[in-house]
Amino acid sequence: MRVLIWIGAAAAMVGAQTIEERIGEAVKAMEPRLVECRRDLHMHPELSNREERTGKLVAERLRALGLDEVRAGVAGHGVVGVLKGGKPGGVVAWRADMDALPIDESKLNVPYKSTVKGVKHACGHDAHTAIGLGIAEALVKVKEELPGTVKFLFQPAEEGAGGAASWGAKQMIAEGALENPRPGAIFALHVGTHIPVGQMSTTDNAASAASGAVAIEFQGKKAHGAYPYQGIDAVAVASQCIVALQTIHSRRLSSQEPSVFSLGTIHGGDRRNVIAESVKVTGTVRTFSDKVLDQYEAMIHQTLKGCTGGMGAGYRLEFKRSYPAMMNSPSLNEGARPVLERLLGKGNLVTVGPGMFAEDFSYYQRQVPGVMLGLGVANAAKGLTAGLHTAEFDLDEDALAIGVKAGAHVVVDYLRRSGQ
Ligand SMILES: [Zn+2]
Ligand SMILES: [Zn+2]
Repeated sequence: MRVLIWIGAAAAMVGAQTIEERIGEAVKAMEPRLVECRRDLHMHPELSNREERTGKLVAERLRALGLDEVRAGVAGHGVVGVLKGGKPGGVVAWRADMDALPIDESKLNVPYKSTVKGVKHACGHDAHTAIGLGIAEALVKVKEELPGTVKFLFQPAEEGAGGAASWGAKQMIAEGALENPRPGAIFALHVGTHIPVGQMSTTDNAASAASGAVAIEFQGKKAHGAYPYQGIDAVAVASQCIVALQTIHSRRLSSQEPSVFSLGTIHGGDRRNVIAESVKVTGTVRTFSDKVLDQYEAMIHQTLKGCTGGMGAGYRLEFKRSYPAMMNSPSLNEGARPVLERLLGKGNLVTVGPGMFAEDFSYYQRQVPGVMLGLGVANAAKGLTAGLHTAEFDLDEDALAIGVKAGAHVVVDYLRRSGQ
């Protein structure tokens, strides 16, 4: 009898557990496997659009978890998984990127060192993939109570083309990753070395930069250095134009819009006593607004046309756009803040300003409202302070469980609120 009463009480306790508590238990149980998964991915990094092993591993794990749909081979080696909750509700997506960088880490002294010479997970995408799989596992455990559908996007080629004409997030969207079902919101996280482990960050509105790669060739006419009037001096033309280009930022664009325009290289001429026929200059534009990027392209053209034309010279301009700026949805952030503060403890969710890095998560945010969170992975006491994209970069693996819990809580909370 007493035993029966005890069993009854235990059952009632299980029934009384919140989804968050059950997620917490699931994460606790999976912690060693999370670390193992991240280390396995770290030891087998794959460059952009070559994530064959990683994509296969992800698809196999999602199938083994029993997701309702798993579609592999999206945008190359990408994988889309769908988990349908037992209760009706909206659709939310979680994105993780999978590719590594052409950086050598042979000098890093860790047991899980990259086994591929010259390739390293230096942007934490190994952690992103392990966390994405962890979120899927945790949510499978609460599938029956889940009020809606969760879509998992494991994306290739965030770091670049890898030889493809279209790649990464853009190609995932082109291949229908956001359709059938279409999510009402999308979330992701990126590891951050500027934040200590235990903390997370978020940014309202512009979170990363839109950038343009600028290449200019000033075209003059060769002549003997003693007879400059017989030629057109590309060095003199470039000098005038470079100064004139600085007035785009200082005199013509709104002072309310932050941007930088840096010219990083200049090469031209053949000999000290020959009037230069050609001078090549390259640089970068960074801004948080697509409109400002458009203005830069138009104004660089306009300035070069007037400036070179006035001196009888010509020019050629190449303006190549990278990813658009990430725009985090303030209302999604507002919704996610309380749940993250509850999880992390007061003061551990920090609001940060935008960074001048680029991130192709911005393409999803052009389709549906989205937020990318920052996950603290730095730990000065353990010597883990090296920045992303460096040979020395490594992360505090305690952040993995935090990332899974945060992701799972944010997703569940969004579904709950969207169903109200
Ligand atoms: Zn990166
Ligand atoms: Zn990254």
